[in-house]
Amino acid sequence: MDDTAIHQCECPACLSGADHPERQVHEQINLLFQRLDEQQRRWVAAIESKKIGYGGDTVVARVTGLHVDTIRRGREELDAGLVDRPTERVRRPGAGRPPLKKIRASSRI
Ligand SMILES: [Zn+2]
Repeated sequence: MDDTAIHQCECPACLSGADHPERQVHEQINLLFQRLDEQQRRWVAAIESKKIGYGGDTVVARVTGLHVDTIRRGREELDAGLVDRPTERVRRPGAGRPPLKKIRASSRI
C-alpha cells in the first residue's frame, strides 16, 4: 500500500457510485488508515472484520485494500493479546506538555 495515497474503497456499493450509508464510513476508515502505521492498520482492520463476523475479512479487504491474510494475521495477533507486539513509543521523547515545574519557571521570564 502506498503510504501517501488514500485508498479508494472497492466495495460493490462504493464502486457503483450510488449514495449509500456506508460510503462516508468507508472513506473515513481509509482516511484514518493513511495516518496509521502498518500494524495499527492491521489491528483496526481486524476489529472491523470481527464486527462483521463471517466474511468480514473479504469485506474489509475490499474497503481498505489490505490483503485478507493481513487482516487474518491482525485478528490472530489481537486474539493473542498482542503479546508478540511490544508497545513502542510513537511520540518523540520529550514531546508533549512540559512538566509543570518548567512551565512555572518559564512564565517568570
Ligand atoms: Zn465502500
